[in-house]
Amino acid sequence: MSIPWSIDVFTLFPHWLSWLEEVRPIRNATEDGLLDVRALDLREHSPLKHRQVDDTPYGGGAGMVLRVDVVAAALEGHYGTSVEQLRERRRVVLLTPAGPQFDDAMANRWAEEQQPTTILCGRYEGFDHRVHEHVATEEVSIGPYVLSGGETAAMTIIDTVARKLPGALGNHESLVDETFSDALDGGSEYPHYTRPAEFRGWTVPEILSSGNHAAIAAWRREQSQRRTAAQPDPETT
Ligand code: SAM
Repeated sequence: MSIPWSIDVFTLFPHWLSWLEEVRPIRNATEDGLLDVRALDLREHSPLKHRQVDDTPYGGGAGMVLRVDVVAAALEGHYGTSVEQLRERRRVVLLTPAGPQFDDAMANRWAEEQQPTTILCGRYEGFDHRVHEHVATEEVSIGPYVLSGGETAAMTIIDTVARKLPGALGNHESLVDETFSDALDGGSEYPHYTRPAEFRGWTVPEILSSGNHAAIAAWRREQSQRRTAAQPDPETT
């Protein structure tokens, strides 16, 4: 049996990540031995009194900053190795709104490489910049907005990559024709309908009940292209 893909999430609030134990794609992948997700406490090995993790910023200003010595202690205490060696063994991802943006292509790459991964969730003002420079191997943002912490970003990333693992979805075919897939030239998925055929006068396109598979495929492709063309251009909005 192959080794499950290890994804460790360091956070001040490990219990918030319990959602990951319930959600289907991740649970399926875990039960099938494909994925091993752990939520770990950034405070666990804090060398400071009262397991303190943050401090006021040099230069003044609002908010608290997560300390580099605490992050290093959390990682070195858990893995039993130096940060330098850890960076050679694992992808160490620091979540920040200012990082390169996570997208479907990045998710595909991660799911293909299955490199052991450690995710650092910030809070408050984020991490001391030395964590960015000397501890993390890369920065990732989930979008151009500021969350109050990295936990929902970590869950978003793990949900996205886990469903790409074989067996995580009930039907792996679902991935073939979905939004951003190669089959749809990276565009939007076509619309789906199910019973009832009519509801309050809202009907299902007749072609979908025609039984003509070629015509249905052509209709879906055209709908996908139309929806993709209707998307606002991120460069100009
Ligand atoms: N002071 C930081 C700034 O202006 O860039 C924002 C800190 S934010 C309130 C606290 C933490 O939430 C960050 O350290 C990061 O881990 C996480 N976070 C916030 N927005 C994020 C995003 N868009 N993607 C990934 N992580 C995010």
